Amino acid sequence: MTCLFCRIAAGQIPASIVHEDDRLVAFNDITPQAPMHVLIVPREHIQTLNDLTPARDGLVGEMVRLAATLAAVRGYAGQGFRTVFNCNADAGQSVFHVHLHVLAGRRLAWPPG
Ligand code: AMP
Ligand code: ZN
Repeated sequence: MTCLFCRIAAGQIPASIVHEDDRLVAFNDITPQAPMHVLIVPREHIQTLNDLTPARDGLVGEMVRLAATLAAVRGYAGQGFRTVFNCNADAGQSVFHVHLHVLAGRRLAWPPG
């Protein structure tokens, strides 16, 4: 298995895991860009958002709902948080296993750089 996030999900590479269930794993980003910076990944290897299918709609919904839950648990529901999926080169995707960034705890600029 060569994919970094597949290996983290399988427990083969250590990560600061904040949530695990049968379909999703969430862990702290190794280079946090905000006081809260969690990555939510499906256990299933999906390279990019371009590889989504109708059968995966439920999975993506679970990812987004988990993002809101994790932000709320840390007290950020009211003040706000940002969720980001980067897809391919122009968005700066560097790990080719779909992941949802969850950022909170500081004022985030818009538009993004
Ligand atoms: P992206 O640029 O959207 O592909 O995001 C990839 C993210 O993965 C970056 O924010 C990295 O800091 C993060 N990252 C890379 N390696 C690790 C790792 N071993 N553990 C946790 N996060 C990682
Ligand atoms: Zn993978």
